[in-house]
Amino acid sequence: MKKFLLTIQSLMVFSFALAQHYIYIDSNKVIGLKPYQQKIVDSPDYKLVEIIKYVPNIVLDIRYATKNNFMHRPMYKLAKAYARLPVALALKVIQDELNKQGLGLKIYDSYRPYAVTVMFYEMAKDTTFVADPRKGSRHNRGCAIDLTVINLKTGKELNMPTDFDSFSVKAADNYPHLSKEKIANREMLKSVMQAHGFKIYHSEWWHYDYNGWPSFPVMDIAFEELGQ
Ligand SMILES: [Zn+2]
Repeated sequence: MKKFLLTIQSLMVFSFALAQHYIYIDSNKVIGLKPYQQKIVDSPDYKLVEIIKYVPNIVLDIRYATKNNFMHRPMYKLAKAYARLPVALALKVIQDELNKQGLGLKIYDSYRPYAVTVMFYEMAKDTTFVADPRKGSRHNRGCAIDLTVINLKTGKELNMPTDFDSFSVKAADNYPHLSKEKIANREMLKSVMQAHGFKIYHSEWWHYDYNGWPSFPVMDIAFEELGQ
């Protein structure tokens, strides 16, 4: 009997370790490592890949891995950029097009594990500037990218309407009261991204979602677990 109880107990511990439990969202809606690994066997488009492996000369400035972000502390342990495979392939085409003009992409953020979205919310206690953990962030689905354009020779960012994560009305995708240069740069990025399957987010000039993003579920796999 004692042996039987011990077995039950260890089974309970085992299943608890397998399933994540969330307080803001139905746990079935958040995909962890095990179901993810099963899914990518038959659906390669589902795979979260390191963007730099597909776009080798892309520049990363992963702000949430540094203190240089609105939380003023590192939120990621690793400065990495992951996205679903079709997103990385589309970024490669965009990068090639920009490179011909002496320009290139710089990524601020891409896939974000759901656990980090919860941390943002719990620290900010506000959903004006951070995603609502009851829905998850678009970044949790692996199809959202925050990015800008750099001059390849100097490495400097082009003049854009605001800095990344400014939370200003000036960051809106169509804000008109800006210099001609800033508007031209914002529109140039918009047109190259839209030509290759991305849609700009209305209140942030730097945020783009890849077409079909709502069909990809919210993920909670840490960068360390994704590896590669
Ligand atoms: Zn974003």
